[in-house]
Amino acid sequence: MKTKSVIVIGAGIGGLTAAIHLAKRGLHVTVVEKNSRPGGRCDRFSRAGHHFDTGPTLLVMPLLYETEFRALGAGASMHERLDLQRVDPTYHLVFDDGSQLALTSDMKSLQEQLESIQPGSFQGLLRYLQEGDRHYQLVLDKLVNSDFRKASDFFSIQNLALIFRLKPLINHYRNMSAYFDDPRLKSAFTFQDIYMGLSPFEAPATFSMMPYTELAHGVWYPKGGMYSVVETLTDLACKAGVEFIFNTAVERIDTNSTHARGVLLAEGARLDADVVLANADLPYVYQYLLPQDRMVRSLSRKRFSCSVISFFWGVDKTYEALGPHTLFLADDYRENFERIIRDLSLPANPSIYIHTPARLDPSMAPRGQDTLTAIVPVGHMSENGEQNWDQLRDEAREHVFRRLRTLGITDIESHIKFEETYTPLSWHKRYNLMKGSTHGLAHTLTQLAYLRPSNRHPRYRNLYFVGASTHPGTGMPTAMVSGRLVSERIMDDLGA
Ligand SMILES: Cc1cc2nc3c(=O)[nH]c(=O)nc-3n(C[C@H](O)[C@H](O)[C@H](O)COP(=O)(O)OP(=O)(O)OC[C@H]3O[C@@H](n4cnc5c(N)ncnc54)[C@H](O)[C@@H]3O)c2cc1C
Repeated sequence: MKTKSVIVIGAGIGGLTAAIHLAKRGLHVTVVEKNSRPGGRCDRFSRAGHHFDTGPTLLVMPLLYETEFRALGAGASMHERLDLQRVDPTYHLVFDDGSQLALTSDMKSLQEQLESIQPGSFQGLLRYLQEGDRHYQLVLDKLVNSDFRKASDFFSIQNLALIFRLKPLINHYRNMSAYFDDPRLKSAFTFQDIYMGLSPFEAPATFSMMPYTELAHGVWYPKGGMYSVVETLTDLACKAGVEFIFNTAVERIDTNSTHARGVLLAEGARLDADVVLANADLPYVYQYLLPQDRMVRSLSRKRFSCSVISFFWGVDKTYEALGPHTLFLADDYRENFERIIRDLSLPANPSIYIHTPARLDPSMAPRGQDTLTAIVPVGHMSENGEQNWDQLRDEAREHVFRRLRTLGITDIESHIKFEETYTPLSWHKRYNLMKGSTHGLAHTLTQLAYLRPSNRHPRYRNLYFVGASTHPGTGMPTAMVSGRLVSERIMDDLGA
């Protein structure tokens, strides 16, 4: 029997994972990637001995990675393939009043710090973590690892119980009042909602699972940076026989009335396939690679996650005052999210994240120097394009300098050897992310699980989707789950 062929559009984490599974199941897999290297948003660049992860910097949910690597078969043990170290404290939080909190797994230290912020709050944290643990287990079992192929897979009596067990209808920030009074602690254990594209003032309390997993299972760092995950997956793909075509954009998916026949490439060439799997951002695929249908309008009305302005600085001095992950959290927490999500702009006093990888792996910067990434969340690109990104970038840079001064870092401007910046326009152009939205479709209640766009096209029965804007959603380990689930579905549909 003829070997079935699959074309994967895009070599992001989801595309790579699916390609490995499918090739290992005997399919002929070709990955077509517009950029010169694999990884998608999980990207990197190096300059003058400074190495930057330009997308993800936090290896979170390590147990999920472990499971997904194991599922890739022999030779794919995460611990054998990646040289991992636990980042502890995970984050150094700095508040507007100058107070600090190091989120550490050392419970004694955490207790002392919390009690000095709000007496009695450590007991609150323990109760909060219990809730986070319950949410984490349920979300993974019932939502992330389930493939909602039909409505009844989701709208079932068993899942109805989740309404009571996962607090989906209770606002995350309001739920924090059950555990903490001090606003600094409420923000310290809810800021992770932004990873889902949500404000804690609208996110379901379900997302207490994120601070829980960060504290309980840890945040990790692979030697060489997050891109080593991409290198590992690419190596596994090559060994499984996957073929790669880089520097080549897919222009259209060739369809008839019920099926995808293959893809048309930018140079006018055409590749036929039995199955097409799109890893490029799902709303972009509907908008630009397929014939227009009502899904395009429906997707344009959906909520997208925010974007970020990133600064990549090679500096000629080491800044020991900065831990690996420093987070400046603004007092006007609610206003921050409203400016980003509602006004699609930059807050007046933004929360800022700074990553210094050389604290974890000295080879990421030349000796005696530092590699700094500063990330400032902003709104995604608006429909009418009225945002002035050059101006917002310059304002964001000033905010970073201002925040660094609160840690006694006053001389950074004179020590920057070079700067690269990414705005939402860069995310859009580099990876075809709709609206430059860094995490794809947001994880609102109406855009989760079965309600998220399906990983199979409703009309073209052999066209599938994988990655952040389809099920289960954003994040590197989640993209690996998406790759496994869609490859199982493809194999089932092929009757293999
Ligand atoms: C700034 C930032 C920080 C993040 N931080 C973290 C973190 O700390 N931890 C974490 O777990 N996650 C993080 N994420 C999220 C994580 O990076 C993503 O959820 C995940 O990498 C998405 O993978 P994906 O499978 O959706 O593929 P994508 O990364 O979207 O890759 C899709 C690929 O398709 C290619 N493509 C697009 N159009 C075409 C075309 N027409 N033809 C050919 N190829 C095409 C693109 O070039 C790209 O390579 C972060 C993301 C960003 C942007």
